[in-house]
Amino acid sequence: MAEEILRLEHVCKYYTGSSTVVMGLNDLSLAFHRGEFVAITGESGSGKSTLAHVLSGILPYESGEMYFMGKPTSHFDGSDYAHYRRDHISFISQSYGILPGCSVLENVVSALRLSGTDKADALSRAEEILQEVELFDLRSRKAGKLSSGQKQRLSIARALAKPAPILIADEPTGNLDPENSEKIMQLLSRAAKNRLVILITHEFSEAENVATRHISLQDGKLIMDTQLAPSATCPPREAKGKPQKFLSSYVSRLQLSGRPVWSALVLLFFTLTAFAVFAFLGNFIIALDDTHTRVYDNSAFRNGNQSRIVAVRTDGAPMTQTDYNTILSLEYIASLECHGYVTDVNYGYRENVDYKWTHTAVDEGTWDNPQVSMSSSVQLTDKAGFLQTLPLLPEGQAFLTAGRLPQKLTEVVMAGDENLIGTTMPVVIQDVKHWNISALITLQVEVVGVTDHGEGLYFHDSLGKAFTHYTVHENRSWFYLPCEDLQPGEVRFNDYVSKMIQGQIQCLPGTVRSEAELAPADLDKLIFLKKIDNGDLTQSDALWRTPIHTSMLNLYAQVSEEDYEKLVWAQASDQVSITIEDYAYTDRVLEALRQAGYNALSPFREGSTEKDPALEQERLQTLKVCGAALLAIVALQIIVLRALFGTQTESYRLLSNIGLTCPTARLSLLWQVLLFTALGQLLGLGGIGLCSALGVERIRHVVRYLPGAYVLLLSAVHLLSALIAALWVQRSITAQVFPLDRKATDLNLEEVTA
Ligand code: ADP
Ligand code: MG
Repeated sequence: MAEEILRLEHVCKYYTGSSTVVMGLNDLSLAFHRGEFVAITGESGSGKSTLAHVLSGILPYESGEMYFMGKPTSHFDGSDYAHYRRDHISFISQSYGILPGCSVLENVVSALRLSGTDKADALSRAEEILQEVELFDLRSRKAGKLSSGQKQRLSIARALAKPAPILIADEPTGNLDPENSEKIMQLLSRAAKNRLVILITHEFSEAENVATRHISLQDGKLIMDTQLAPSATCPPREAKGKPQKFLSSYVSRLQLSGRPVWSALVLLFFTLTAFAVFAFLGNFIIALDDTHTRVYDNSAFRNGNQSRIVAVRTDGAPMTQTDYNTILSLEYIASLECHGYVTDVNYGYRENVDYKWTHTAVDEGTWDNPQVSMSSSVQLTDKAGFLQTLPLLPEGQAFLTAGRLPQKLTEVVMAGDENLIGTTMPVVIQDVKHWNISALITLQVEVVGVTDHGEGLYFHDSLGKAFTHYTVHENRSWFYLPCEDLQPGEVRFNDYVSKMIQGQIQCLPGTVRSEAELAPADLDKLIFLKKIDNGDLTQSDALWRTPIHTSMLNLYAQVSEEDYEKLVWAQASDQVSITIEDYAYTDRVLEALRQAGYNALSPFREGSTEKDPALEQERLQTLKVCGAALLAIVALQIIVLRALFGTQTESYRLLSNIGLTCPTARLSLLWQVLLFTALGQLLGLGGIGLCSALGVERIRHVVRYLPGAYVLLLSAVHLLSALIAALWVQRSITAQVFPLDRKATDLNLEEVTA
């Protein structure tokens, strides 16, 4: 007798439902040998399929013992069964069990690879087998497109591809016409030359000529066992494949290649969720910075513009051209204001927007003799901006769009179009921090150039120098204007001079003209410059020597360029104001400046101290909305992915029949998820780049705000939710496809055999 492969001793198999127990196999004892072609018949429900499933290790049994090659199997756990199936069983079912999305060739190759054949061997062997089953010409056709007979031949080809010693076919001809059935029987008969072939059929006649043995079941019991012909004698052949490397990544490719539409859909979904995670988590992280919810306290810096950064050298020395170049070469710098103090001084140039006049009637007479006069005063509104002189821009950027640069104090560049050139307007300047609250200067200026940079007016450098000078010598609190080019009426100190000389504003030197009468002698006394030159002028001297009357409202002063330089040192400011492209870059620019050897700070950050409850509320709202959206996306991602990947269960089941093990299946799922996540994130980031290039502000903001490290965080969150989904799918695939791999004892058998 040939080698015994399988033996059942008193095997019982029960199906336990919620309230019922059905006997599938009832005390069955049988032995099978290599070379046998066993036809098993019986009425429907007699237990044929149950027997096929028990023999092939798809279903466990409850009592008795099944021996494989003389070794008992009742102690097998899930992975033992998986290996048993992988190494020893080829299973053919009525439903073909082929991968419909894959090509005919791929179907056979996959069976070979899963049973441990390496790639090159698998290919040549698969072609050989396809010749054998007459499907070679159709090898590149999708398996789903074959006719039923071809499909069943393909499933036999897969079974033959596997060098397993046991081939079990459960009603393989159920859907076939007699001609095709005949072909299948011939193929099985040939397979039985060196295997054990077990054929389940309800139509014994079709197997009559090829079977060597006929077994019949009824109610799970053996009722007939007849030897029909001598079984083939053949040498035992041990055909155990080696475990292959990268099998899981092969399986994942197999899962994807057969389903292009599905794959595109999943990729689209991953892209969308990556995009959404980026947008919402990005905004969430941004909202964590609560600087915006604080009220700006302008006692240190009047100008708390968010994109402003002030910097000084660590040695406190005045800035040089080299410093300007260094700073401008840093990333995210939009412009640089050399005269750093100017940017804390307010000015207005639009009447009734950033400044306005008030006129009050004053009656100083008596009831009988009224003496009404008008008192006018100008005031900056809270819309007033901050002064700016011609900025330095990073290399390659042009400042002017038309016209020319200012050459003197009364010439300005204005942001806007060409038509503005030639316009003149009064400008009101007020330094709240250093001057008396009602002290203002008005200047009549002319627009000589226009720019598309920022907004408002840009002044000649001399204005910057004036403010720099007096701030450097803060204890004097004097302010000098270069008046050489000023015409009477161009500069006006809109305050009582008495207030000026109390130390807030000093108008010096040169020829002073006034609307009021001034004695030539008084005029002489106003020329302070000489005294300063002599080096013996003190503040008290200056005050003492100023014989200006409180009735004098307007004062004009002129000084030569040379004198001005003496007063307002040619030396540069020690502090620069930098405008960065966006507040989002604050931390990065501060760090870069520190690295480059400067002390730098963001006035907005430093000055934002008190929390504003309304803004704080708004911020919390943003946090809530983004947080909730994020959770929703993650939940959606998990649920949708679970559903999308759940559709792979069937092909995993098919693959498991030809030897796919549970760990490989789980790993292959992971590969797929990782692949989709990586691609989805790339595409998602591409989408974000596109949105930000197209000017979608909310997205652009996130892009600017979040440096690389955060992008990693975002992609980790996205990946995490995908992995959770993957774990969930893994669990369900394990439960549905590899139930025996579960530790649980109470198997859900409806699930198992469904
Ligand atoms: P056959 O293949 O000969 O038609 P089966 O092996 O499918 O018979 O069924 C044998 C018996 O076991 C039948 O009574 C059937 O109702 C029962 N049975 C089969 N599968 C299940 C299952 N998953 N759950 C419960 N009972 C089942
Ligand atoms: Mg059946």
